[in-house]
Amino acid sequence: MSPAVTTPHYPVAVVGGGIAGLTLALALERQGVEYILFEARDCLSPDEGASIGLLPNGLRILDQLGLLDEIEKHTLPLQRWRHMDEEGGLLCETRALGYYPSKLGYGGMFLPRRKVLEIMETSLKNREKTVRTNSRVVSLDETDEYVAIKLSDGSRATADLVIGADGVRSCVRDAIDRAHPGPDVPAHADDYIKTRFAAVYGISPPVQGIAEGEVFSVYRPGATILIFTGLGATIFWFVLEDLGRECGLSATPRYTREDVDAVCRSVAHLAITPTVSFGDVYAARSVAMKVPLEEGTAPTFHTDRMVIAGDAAHKSTPNAAMGANQAIESAAVLLNELRGVWSQPPPSQHGALRAALERYSSLRKPRTHAVVQRAGMVCRAQMCHTNGPAAAIRDELPSLRDWDWLFRGFMGFAESPVLEGVPLSSKGLFYQQAVEQFQKRVRARQTGGEDISIAALMGMEAE
Ligand SMILES: Cc1cc2nc3c(=O)[nH]c(=O)nc-3n(C[C@H](O)[C@H](O)[C@H](O)COP(=O)(O)OP(=O)(O)OC[C@H]3O[C@@H](n4cnc5c(N)ncnc54)[C@H](O)[C@@H]3O)c2cc1C
Repeated sequence: MSPAVTTPHYPVAVVGGGIAGLTLALALERQGVEYILFEARDCLSPDEGASIGLLPNGLRILDQLGLLDEIEKHTLPLQRWRHMDEEGGLLCETRALGYYPSKLGYGGMFLPRRKVLEIMETSLKNREKTVRTNSRVVSLDETDEYVAIKLSDGSRATADLVIGADGVRSCVRDAIDRAHPGPDVPAHADDYIKTRFAAVYGISPPVQGIAEGEVFSVYRPGATILIFTGLGATIFWFVLEDLGRECGLSATPRYTREDVDAVCRSVAHLAITPTVSFGDVYAARSVAMKVPLEEGTAPTFHTDRMVIAGDAAHKSTPNAAMGANQAIESAAVLLNELRGVWSQPPPSQHGALRAALERYSSLRKPRTHAVVQRAGMVCRAQMCHTNGPAAAIRDELPSLRDWDWLFRGFMGFAESPVLEGVPLSSKGLFYQQAVEQFQKRVRARQTGGEDISIAALMGMEAE
């Protein structure tokens, strides 16, 4: 049965206009696919004081979408990362991040989340027609022929495909879970999204003594700090708090202004440099918010006509700065797999759609699960958990050299996707050649053909 004539119908409906949703929108526009994006908030770039870390894998895709020049006007590559104990003693200092632009074409950079969203929104050519703000999706009903969508204002729409880019509390993921009842599949996000940590995130103007391009992690149990810098040495900071026990998504705490202050004051004494303490940064803050840090990967990414991407599918702690970059990667892989579907005649489109969503899921689940796990381990290492891989991560810090960090970075970046059918810029091509060369040398080293050190493999002189 076809949907009622008064209900608008779209080939694709994207739910959520964060980094994942806007990457999807920009790429769908490029592919010439008709879509609608529903965003619950009243605008796409709210001023909430949050920051975003962009790494070479995410930047390469944003470069394909023509956003790099504008992004680079508002930030600069990170250079040096200092890992310290709670007395201010240096555990490890690395300049590996500073090598990214010369070795991969793109740096690692931090900037306000609002700025990235603003750049993405401005780049949409048909924003007036394709984006609906103040439009919270409240229910989804999938049939063989379409998905019926109900919005908070009572209006309705239908779509051939619904993409849930609606963050960690995803209603699309809930609908997918409900469509997969059975003993092997968890029925509720509480079973696979857990909260062990919370964070206050904030932005402070430059504080004398902290330079552009610097990053600081302090290793301390209970509560600690993670600091990134951006253009003009603007400080993007996180106070991480160990809640001491794990709870499911529906039981995650909500926080007040008093909670922000209490945890920030408890780490105010921590030294960032010999002359600057966290208290100096906190005192200068322009904004600070406290949120739970949910972690987890959804067991099911799709049904026949619904699929999830970004935090809706894979939510990690901010320690690996991969949240936004994995959201961008997932958007790219999903649209790569869907490319062949749009051109199919309706009778074969359903089967092609299902197959494309299955390929997307099998490509993305292992990678995003590994990233979520890794970010969680780094978080636990920073909170000084004493058992398992977290302890090992902390213990090896003093022995790590720049080439070790670079090698690990390259291992992750080598696997990262691009948008198929969209040309790469000269930087993008440089990245591709660099990782191909890297993979060749890694293979040669693994098969024993080349006796080469990690330092030499990364093109650096050992001390
Ligand atoms: C307030 C905030 C602060 C953050 N701060 C940082 C940070 O400092 N550093 C960092 O690295 N990462 C941060 N992140 C996380 C980072 O933005 C994400 O990991 C990454 O960008 C992936 O985003 P996403 O688009 O998948 O989800 P999100 O960024 O969560 O976006 C989801 C979007 O969907 C909308 N939405 C939700 N439900 C519905 C619905 N039912 N109908 C319609 N729309 C809906 C939301 O309003 C939101 O705009 C933050 C996220 C948020 C929301």
